[in-house]
Amino acid sequence: MGITKDSNAREANTPDERSFESSPKISKRFSSPKADIILRSSDDVEFRVHRLFLAEASTVFRDMLEIPQAQTQSAGELSLPIVDVTESEEVLDALLRWIYPWAGKPKVTAVAQMESYLVAASKYDIAVVLEALAEGLKPEFVEKHPLGVYGMLRWLQITHQIHMPEAVSMARKHMIRSSFDLMNPPPSELNRLSAVDLLDLIKTKQAFRQVVEEIFTFNGIPRCNTCRKAGESTPLWWPKYRSNALAALVEGNLPDFVFSRSFMIAAVRSVDCEDCDGSFSNAHSQNYLILMKTKLLYLWENGTGGVYGAKLSDWNRT
Ligand SMILES: [Zn+2]
Repeated sequence: MGITKDSNAREANTPDERSFESSPKISKRFSSPKADIILRSSDDVEFRVHRLFLAEASTVFRDMLEIPQAQTQSAGELSLPIVDVTESEEVLDALLRWIYPWAGKPKVTAVAQMESYLVAASKYDIAVVLEALAEGLKPEFVEKHPLGVYGMLRWLQITHQIHMPEAVSMARKHMIRSSFDLMNPPPSELNRLSAVDLLDLIKTKQAFRQVVEEIFTFNGIPRCNTCRKAGESTPLWWPKYRSNALAALVEGNLPDFVFSRSFMIAAVRSVDCEDCDGSFSNAHSQNYLILMKTKLLYLWENGTGGVYGAKLSDWNRT
């Protein structure tokens, strides 16, 4: 029944196809009768807005609105100039919600969304949106999508000269210190990332790991008599603790965790030597472990430091 009715309706309208186009889709949120201009999205949705707000928020809109616009001639309605923009309804709606003081602000939950907003905000030079987006780059978002966020920020930096050093450093730090797998990155997060930047991250991560391994080097370790009698060159607790600690760090654990007493004791007690405890508890060993922890914490916080400076650049390098 529906099909017949539909095709009849179509036939009836064929002589005048224009009647199909007569009512444009209008944004519900931006439909003020007091509007003085219409922005039309790439997907043909009209936003009835106010020049004043656009001009105040964006120098690009300000310049654009100085150019006389074509008038619309919709029957029964005030004729308003229409400006066609290349942004979709979703993106335009978000930009306007940031610009208008009373509108609820959009929530950014996906990298692609963030990217489209940033691109549009930078194109129209809307500082309020750029600032809101930069603020929205909360650690949770960066931790969830570090590579996508990093690629986007680097792209903004290179192509738009928009610098967000704190966010860049946060994303970089997260990927290099955590278990994030740069060799198998999520394809959806590679859109904006250059091969040079990806390679740089991979190399930096390798260098970081190498430095962590160097920090876990114990020269002059106190001997354990039982281990020595069994022909071991070092007390058994040390290689065990070292490999546990390195594995835990690769898995994303923090330095404090691997230097916690319980973590260390667990390694010492897991080896097949009852006398190793003495070698571990020895003042020299304890002081050495504290020194390692200090070095590791410094590296963790700064990305570089001391003799490792040449291998790594600090987190704030952007
Ligand atoms: Zn031992």
